Amino acid sequence: MVMAAQLGAVIRDPEFVQFHPTAIDIGRDPAPLATEALRGDGAVLIDRNGHRFMPDVHEHAELAPRDVVARAVHAQNLSGAGAYLDAREAVGAQFPDHFPAVFKACMSGGIDPRTNPIPVAPAAHYHMGGVETDLDGFTGVPGLWAVGECASTGVHGANRLASNSLLEGLVFGHRAAQAIHRAPTRQVQAQAADAPCELPQSVLQTLRSAVSAQAGVTRSAEGLTTLLSLLDALEAEHGSAPALIAARFLTQGALVREESRGGHCRTDFPQRAEPGRHTRLTLSDLYPAHAKLRKPEPPEMIPALPRHLIHALITRALEEDLGGRGDVTSLATIPADKNANFVIKSRANGVLAGQQPPTPVLIRSIAISPSPGASVMAIFLKRAI
Ligand SMILES: Cc1cc2nc3c(=O)[nH]c(=O)nc-3n(C[C@H](O)[C@H](O)[C@H](O)COP(=O)(O)OP(=O)(O)OC[C@H]3O[C@@H](n4cnc5c(N)ncnc54)[C@H](O)[C@@H]3O)c2cc1C
Repeated sequence: MVMAAQLGAVIRDPEFVQFHPTAIDIGRDPAPLATEALRGDGAVLIDRNGHRFMPDVHEHAELAPRDVVARAVHAQNLSGAGAYLDAREAVGAQFPDHFPAVFKACMSGGIDPRTNPIPVAPAAHYHMGGVETDLDGFTGVPGLWAVGECASTGVHGANRLASNSLLEGLVFGHRAAQAIHRAPTRQVQAQAADAPCELPQSVLQTLRSAVSAQAGVTRSAEGLTTLLSLLDALEAEHGSAPALIAARFLTQGALVREESRGGHCRTDFPQRAEPGRHTRLTLSDLYPAHAKLRKPEPPEMIPALPRHLIHALITRALEEDLGGRGDVTSLATIPADKNANFVIKSRANGVLAGQQPPTPVLIRSIAISPSPGASVMAIFLKRAI
């Protein structure tokens, strides 16, 4: 992201960071994650006295959106009440079989999740913001495309639906490759560049702690201003290391966005401000000495689709998933000879993956499904209606 900014690219919405609500808090860095499937399976979030706190926060309790659960877990930890994921009843003895990776991580930290609640804390998980691109990954800077988590393509908004980074990699990777292939080739003169200055480990650690505290799950003008002063001091001492520049983009974006939206929560501006707008920052907005860089024009945004096209798209997506050919993502990522048994559990009628799908999706699923697996799904969905 910083390399692109140094070439003049716009960094869009750098303040939008998603936090995973339940990293296992056993002092490891990076913290291992307790998968959200545990909450889907019925594990509950409790404080150190065993009180289940999510029903007081959101009607969907533990199945509330990621940012809501992350903020609640954060608030519990800040207040000293503690946050624990309790899977003793919902998963219990089946933990090692059903969640082997999480089981191993817990045991390595001395916690047996079959008999003890797991201490949890939110952890930085995904950066929705990043290098502004059009739908082909083009940044507006001649010769520069950005794909993956570093890009801000516009598909995630202020939050991200789980697993949508696969979309970034596959779909936008493909589109960018095609665009690069179509682009005229240019002769470029290679130039030696100075290696970016590195921060000593201890300083990097100071920076990470400060960013987590002041620009993490919750933010305020006071905390963000304090953070900017720290960034000034660290830059004066260590030079403009990429980590400091990245932190400055995030902090500046969070400061100018005086509202709460998706993953960005300002305690001093708890409401959403309408209309929504993008933050667009370049290096010259942060460092006037770079003022010679020209800000690229914003790319053409995805226009709002008319209703009939949305319905056609839902039908196409469901035909792909349920229509007998198989789901392209599964076909692309799971070897054909891999077989496994699994159980799909719904916590309530009409709930899929913790959410209630919109009615048009349900109705079309039933209309489409000829395959055996799909009919089971259709029966389930029929019941749901
Ligand atoms: C714990 C965890 C679980 C996740 N689970 C899911 C999930 O279930 N589903 C999902 O869709 N997404 C998930 N995500 C998000 C997803 O993993 C990432 O968004 C995705 O891997 C990003 O891929 P990328 O190639 O864009 O970036 P990266 O994988 O970060 O690759 C960037 C590469 O660039 C290299 N690099 C950096 N700087 C330089 C430099 N200056 N010079 C040269 N190389 C450099 C890095 O070393 C790295 O190899 C998860 C993320 C985390 C942290």
